[in-house]
Amino acid sequence: MKALGLIKPNLVAWIEKERPIAGPYDAIIRPIAIAPCSSDVHTAFEGGAEKPSGFVLGHEAVGEVVEVGELVNEFKVGDKVVVPAGTPNWRARGIQEHNFKHAGGPFSGLELSGSRDGVFAELFMVNDADNNLALMPEDISIEDALMTVDMVTTGFSGAELADIKFGDTVCVIGIGPVGLMAVAGAKLRGAARIFAVGTRPDCVTLAKEYGATDIISYKDGNIAKQVLELTSGRGTDATIIAGGNAETFALAVAMTRFGGGNIANINYFTGSDYLPIPTLAFGRGMAGKTIKGDLCEGGRVRIERLLNMIRYGRIQPGKMVTHKFYGFDKLEEAFYLMRDKPKDLIKTVVYIDWNKEK
Ligand code: NAD
Ligand code: ZN
Repeated sequence: MKALGLIKPNLVAWIEKERPIAGPYDAIIRPIAIAPCSSDVHTAFEGGAEKPSGFVLGHEAVGEVVEVGELVNEFKVGDKVVVPAGTPNWRARGIQEHNFKHAGGPFSGLELSGSRDGVFAELFMVNDADNNLALMPEDISIEDALMTVDMVTTGFSGAELADIKFGDTVCVIGIGPVGLMAVAGAKLRGAARIFAVGTRPDCVTLAKEYGATDIISYKDGNIAKQVLELTSGRGTDATIIAGGNAETFALAVAMTRFGGGNIANINYFTGSDYLPIPTLAFGRGMAGKTIKGDLCEGGRVRIERLLNMIRYGRIQPGKMVTHKFYGFDKLEEAFYLMRDKPKDLIKTVVYIDWNKEK
């Protein structure tokens, strides 16, 4: 079968792969729609995690079940399904310690394009199908559903990690699709004031629509200073990092309040071996600020819950899809466009079987 794979660092191209094999709990899926992710771009072009030659990228898909293992009970051939980016092995020992993302070792919950071939293929395998697939609802658009599998769950994971409470002052740094969903998540968790750091006009418009009360631009100077000034020196209750580099990490620590402030990272850092913590802003180690960083929440129930939020009008993530392609052979172009990121691009979707778009 045909797939879009990483030949070597900085080279992604079409390759021939063997058809994937389903174990007893697994399912084989034919993609109906795929979205390339910024993380695929980091992995391929920015010195991200090392992968073997011929490794298939991609972890955002809606598809159709074409085969199920003998122990899969709840899905059958022909079912349309939403596939979470995070597909934990729910039988791993660490699950009993509530370790859903790294239960079998670092990043083990991210199998697709993490530890094995991803969804940029004519067929792909989903482990533990009963616990990792969600039925594609008929009353929800493919675009909305596809955004839940990574963008919504990751942005919302940022809001959860940041432990946002009613009335909080929050800053979201980076308002690509993940940051935009962090803004939406912060609003839904009851934040009062939400600073969004970004400049691209389309992202700024959506950030306001999703709940940002203040827009901050790095073009106006140090963003931590700006946030501190706007909060009379107090800083934020919670800061979510959804874009930027190591320096951004230091700025996030600096803008977050002493005594209980939370810094939540969902960004994928490349290009530096260490993340800096500013000594003074971290109270010489005694500031009472908490720093957390994690992968998105995966699995079936998470996606079913997010789909329900779309159904009842709480979120409209499909609005982030700015560029659409039609046909599996357009995947390469869509992926490279995601890398080159023109100013008006937030998220691309490739419809492989667009008759099934509805
Ligand atoms: P994106 O590239 O579309 O958005 C990032 C935004 O950050 C861009 O708008 C960019 O202009 C902005 N930015 C860059 N440098 C900045 C700086 N110094 N200060 C402020 N803003 C800055 O990416 P995305 O798809 O929104 O994803 C965001 C990050 O989340 C990526 O690193 C991605 O790999 C990562 N990610 C993590 C998970 C996870 O499970 N934790 C899942 C998906 C994506
Ligand atoms: Zn991703």
